[in-house]
Amino acid sequence: MVEKAIICVDDEEIILSSLGGQLKRAFGAKYSIETASDGTEVIELCAELTAEGIEIPLIISDQNMKGILGNQLLTQLHDLYPQTLKILLTGETDAEVVRNLVNISALYRYIAKPWDETDLILTVREALRCYEQNQKLTLQNELLTATNLKLAESVNLLVATLEATADGILVLDSRGKVLRYNQKFLNLLGIAEMVSQEKNNDRIIDIIDLSLQQLSTSYACNIDPDTHQSFSHLNDYCLLKLKNGKVLECYSQIQKLKNIDSNIVWSFRDVTERQKAEQTIKHQAFHDSLTGLANRSFFDYQLADELKKSQASDRKLAVLFFDLDRFKNINDTLGHAFGDRLLQEVVKRLKISIRDEDIVSRWGGDEFTILLPKIKGLDDAIAIAKRILKGLQPSFHVGNHRLHITSSIGIAVYPDHGTDSDTLLKNADAALYKAKDQGRNNYQHYNQNLNSQGEKLLQLENKLRYALAQREFVLYYQPIVDVVTGRIIKMEALIRWQNDTFGLIPPDSFIPLAEENGLIIPIGKWVLKQACLQNKYWQQNGFPWLKVSVNLSPKQFQEPNLVYKLLKILQKTNLKPSDLELEITETVTIQNGNAAKTILNKLDSGGISLSMDDFGTGYSSLSYLKQFPFNTLKIDRFFVQNALNNPEDQAIIKAIVHLGKGLNISVVAEGIETEESKNFLQTLGCRYMQGYYFSRPVPAKEATTLLQNYSCTDLQKNYSLGS
Ligand code: C2E
Ligand code: CA
Ligand code: CA
Repeated sequence: MVEKAIICVDDEEIILSSLGGQLKRAFGAKYSIETASDGTEVIELCAELTAEGIEIPLIISDQNMKGILGNQLLTQLHDLYPQTLKILLTGETDAEVVRNLVNISALYRYIAKPWDETDLILTVREALRCYEQNQKLTLQNELLTATNLKLAESVNLLVATLEATADGILVLDSRGKVLRYNQKFLNLLGIAEMVSQEKNNDRIIDIIDLSLQQLSTSYACNIDPDTHQSFSHLNDYCLLKLKNGKVLECYSQIQKLKNIDSNIVWSFRDVTERQKAEQTIKHQAFHDSLTGLANRSFFDYQLADELKKSQASDRKLAVLFFDLDRFKNINDTLGHAFGDRLLQEVVKRLKISIRDEDIVSRWGGDEFTILLPKIKGLDDAIAIAKRILKGLQPSFHVGNHRLHITSSIGIAVYPDHGTDSDTLLKNADAALYKAKDQGRNNYQHYNQNLNSQGEKLLQLENKLRYALAQREFVLYYQPIVDVVTGRIIKMEALIRWQNDTFGLIPPDSFIPLAEENGLIIPIGKWVLKQACLQNKYWQQNGFPWLKVSVNLSPKQFQEPNLVYKLLKILQKTNLKPSDLELEITETVTIQNGNAAKTILNKLDSGGISLSMDDFGTGYSSLSYLKQFPFNTLKIDRFFVQNALNNPEDQAIIKAIVHLGKGLNISVVAEGIETEESKNFLQTLGCRYMQGYYFSRPVPAKEATTLLQNYSCTDLQKNYSLGS
């Protein structure tokens, strides 16, 4: 299909067909040769061809035609088809006409009539070649324009992207010259205002250059502080700390473009907030949120680190395990929130007692570990342990409560008690265990015999199961004395375990165990029965006024039908209920709340005496006491011993004694070890006392002797019953 046409216009038929014929012969293969005999016809023809998509490279028109002159026609056609080349056939060489046509670029050539066929063909061929070239050029131009538009679009898009990104962007050439930047970059560096006032682009570049140089020199960063050229080496990630405290994360990348020097693209991001958040998270990962102390993992890390240093420098260090005594009671009775606040106070004291270089961590619950680097030996560690124990002596004031807290400490020293973290921690823990075993409120250091302590415990538990059947338990008795009359008014029954392997075992070593495995119930029952029998015996053998008091563990207290069982024992042993006193710690009453009140009231109406044990270790208030039917209140020995030096504690004891009188509750001071103590408590108004000063707990036989010797009403009696 021919897609291009050459049009010939002439009003003389013969000429038209001759012209058409010659052209057909020469170009018919490639072009369709169309003819028109006047202006109207040619315009219609052109329109038709164009509509069919046929191109018209060339129109050849006669000059002298009826209706319209060739030059006018070609001018008209030029307006419509400017790409088409036009040739004028003209009889007379009318220079004026031709020049005008050329001027308005409507004419490609003119051919004089009559024409030579070869000339015509050559001219037309040349014209067609010219047309094709023009077309190519036009196409190229169009393409170029389109590309330019696209390019401009992309550049705009790029700039918009550059500005829309959250990062500051700076592009440098390979020599460090600033090529491009975005507003965010200026804002981050704090030079936006300086730049906005500057119109001269070179000077803007200078400002940026200068601030970059300052950045490299005056900000802590691993950038080479030479010239800004050193930035090109920075093909990496780094953090820049600005003078105003902001932290910029900076990432630079070398962009290699074909044929162009490699550019360096820097992106900057303000990570101040993120850094802060990361630091918080890091802190949280390594610290305990309640106390702010290092946590276990951080302590492990620091211990490993200090061990390395000690190994390298032949130094010693110590690990201390620190545990609050009876903290669980506080938590249970006063609640966890209170316990938490108390721990915070304890930590404050701990920090005062240790040296600056020591590290305390919260190991969990009320357990703390303390790392003492650079010590001369065990003595240094002991000195610090002593300081810690002493630091806890003054009472704590938390909320409305005022209480005393003691702690136990286990010590292990590197390299004497272990050379690696695990061993040191394990041995410090074993030493702590021993400290607890020794009656709390003390420190112990590791020694080799301690290792068997754990095994001993296991054996102990197994043996405990058979102790009752094998009659290995014995009751010791400790007198409670009325210092006004000098009479023993009561005996407290205190259990001991006489074992072939372990010897005489104190109750603190096995009662908690018995509580755990439930053996406390049968053991407790045995104690009650035994104590009642013993008291009955004493009453029938010269001491009819004597009472016996028995410690009741929390587990026993929760036993169903406790009252019934107790009354049963009393019945069987034939002892008056009022001659049996039950010692119950305030913890038990607080923990069990209303249920405790019900049970205590039942016991009370059964006629059994009730004694609140260990009062003053501080968890319940005096007013609380009023709610319960207690006959006796025993002031804890720690509290009593503290009172000697502490006026506040003295005032409280006075208040307790006073309140006791008001409520008709007898007050017993426990732990009287010296005459001084006895006298002092007496001046505070205390009438009933118990302690080593009068007598240690002794077997029943010896207790009988005590009773025989010290039950008269001689006011001048020497109260030291022998210890
Ligand atoms: P507790 O009820 O507070 O008993 C008083 C403890 O203080 C006794 O220790 C006694 O020997 C000791 N003590 C008495 N006077 C002094 C003194 O002047 N100075 C010092 N430092 N200590 C003194 P023991 O016999 O080792 O009993 C320890 C705890 O074991 C008792 O504390 C009690 O809570 C418990 N316990 C003893 N026997 C029994 C029992 O049969 N059943 C139950 N559930 N618990 C018992
Ligand atoms: Ca007691
Ligand atoms: Ca007690």
